[in-house]
Amino acid sequence: MSEAVEIFLFADALGWEVVEANDFLKDLLPYRRRIGMQFGYSSTAIPTILSGQPPSIHKHLGLFRFAPTQSPFRWMRWLGPLLRPASLWNRGRIRHWLSWLIGRLRGFTGYFQLYRMPFDRLPLMDYCEKKDLFVAGGMDGVENLCDLLNRSGRHFHISDWRLSDRRNFAEARAALAKGAEFLFIYTAGLDAVLHQSPDPRSAPVREKLEWYRREIEGLLEDCRKAGKTPRLTVFSDHGMTPLMRTVDLKTAVEATGLVFGRDYGACYDSTMFRVDFLKPNAEATIRAALKPFETCGHWLSAEEEKHYGIYREDRYFGGAIFLMDPGVQIVPSDMGLEALPGMHGYAPADKDSYAAILANVEIPPEVQHVSDYFRLMRQRLPKSIL
Ligand SMILES: [Zn+2]
Repeated sequence: MSEAVEIFLFADALGWEVVEANDFLKDLLPYRRRIGMQFGYSSTAIPTILSGQPPSIHKHLGLFRFAPTQSPFRWMRWLGPLLRPASLWNRGRIRHWLSWLIGRLRGFTGYFQLYRMPFDRLPLMDYCEKKDLFVAGGMDGVENLCDLLNRSGRHFHISDWRLSDRRNFAEARAALAKGAEFLFIYTAGLDAVLHQSPDPRSAPVREKLEWYRREIEGLLEDCRKAGKTPRLTVFSDHGMTPLMRTVDLKTAVEATGLVFGRDYGACYDSTMFRVDFLKPNAEATIRAALKPFETCGHWLSAEEEKHYGIYREDRYFGGAIFLMDPGVQIVPSDMGLEALPGMHGYAPADKDSYAAILANVEIPPEVQHVSDYFRLMRQRLPKSIL
């Protein structure tokens, strides 16, 4: 029997709806299943995939969190006056360049983007992805995939998330040629396509799926030529929900007259508002201000937080979380000033939220949720390291 190669391909935003609408790779990957999304964003799901742990353990939910005493940006409070006029410094390209510069200055090795976080709030914010999650020791005391593979003694390859999808396939094929027995290929291009064209049958989506097919066929062909048996598993972290409407929570909260950083602290993600109440009156005032939005969103209960794996006694992610209904985007948010045609980060039980797993080998029945991928990958390694 020829030697097996384990190939795990992560396709960001390849939701179950997209898979179903296109019968994606039905011939090559006949074993397929709808998968429960990790509550949150890719920045939440990726650490879950790489460690098998929920956010309550790995401590990644939104990219930012209100934490004045732990902010790596405290030094920036002296820069405030220099970053005026805001209209100049807020231009996309300039924020992008500043993100690069700040990341370098702070020695961040993880994915870092300022997005639209206001400069005057940045010194009050912590950032969760300071380290590269994909490398050994990247997850602060939590074993990640790279740690596990190092321990396994297997010849492995993990993509560099900084590279394009095309480069990542090319690098994986090169690693295969050098004898890699375990590949983890990272691709995020489909997510960008679906944010702009959330219709699973749209031409840009079909084009990207066709591109995946060609790349995957190339990879399988390489295996065949090398006399190896590819065990290929494609998995994703979430789907994509088309835009229905936007809500401006920020104006409503700021109209209360409460002062940010003194009375309350908050992060406005694209689909959820995470708030810390700092003064006794702040909670009732903010809850009252958001009352009108309870027709299209709700405050998460402790039970929901526990169910989603995000509950922490210390309220690390925020004292309370207001989640929008599927299709409702918070605009403006700390992530963007305009709505996108598609967004994710809603309730996992919504049909557009579901992720997917597709394979050419049987998928064990216990793989039902994004957090189960890590165990699946572990099962495919020599038993001696388990
Ligand atoms: Zn996305």
